[in-house]
Amino acid sequence: MTEIPDDHPRAQSLRTRHRIEAGVEKGITSKQGLIAQGRGETYDYLLGEETIPSADAAERAAAAKLLLADHPVLSVNGNVAALAPEAMVELAAAVDADIEVNLFNRTEERVRAIADHLRDHGAESVKGLAADARIPGLDHERAKVDEDGIYDADAVVVPLEDGDRAEALAEMGKTEIVIDLNPLSRSAQTAAIPIIDNIVRAVPNMTRHARELQERDASREELAEIVATFDREAALEEAEEAIRSGELD
Ligand code: ATP
Repeated sequence: MTEIPDDHPRAQSLRTRHRIEAGVEKGITSKQGLIAQGRGETYDYLLGEETIPSADAAERAAAAKLLLADHPVLSVNGNVAALAPEAMVELAAAVDADIEVNLFNRTEERVRAIADHLRDHGAESVKGLAADARIPGLDHERAKVDEDGIYDADAVVVPLEDGDRAEALAEMGKTEIVIDLNPLSRSAQTAAIPIIDNIVRAVPNMTRHARELQERDASREELAEIVATFDREAALEEAEEAIRSGELD
């Protein structure tokens, strides 16, 4: 990888791009993932490449929801595995969630490569290989999930997900936490908790919130209150406004 100087104005963005490139080379990220990354970068540029206050509130509400859930699951695709493997493993440990590989363009080889990659980054167990249940309303390949994983979950974190699958999961009655830089994407529009932020910032911040809530023994009532007072419409509007006004420092 080419050395990127720290003072380069796009340093973080370029490093993120290199991670996706390495993911494609390793066989964990699809070529389509490169295009998704390009889309994401555009929105992030206009957001000032920072976590805006409404995204921080969404990340806190998501942490509270995951702590309240009976069976939280974090869904991992090829871009997520390339961009934030350690961060996903840390979040799963902090909120006691399962990790499941769930791919739009599913091949057994890629599922296995991603599971191995996550284990290399500290995951103890990774679901997604059994694929013994189906999400209703989607075609066969795209519907595959684990019966004791996403199929059984009451709260699912779906970062960088395609709109059809996000809608189908929401229709199953699961609380859906979406991480997506595009506030207008169907995934973000469908989510109970839309997080309009870059996954590389969002996931560590969710873990930080979860740890802070746990360290001071926040009650279930307080956690429920944090979730209930989060305003998804306002968060989507604030993100859209920030992107449209594009007032960068
Ligand atoms: P929809 O059908 O919901 O509109 P889509 O099919 O357009 O979604 P894709 O093209 O699959 O979605 O792209 C995935 C989404 O992930 C895009 O909205 C993109 O902005 C977002 N994205 C890409 N990289 C990141 C990132 N690093 N962090 C957060 N979101 C990202």
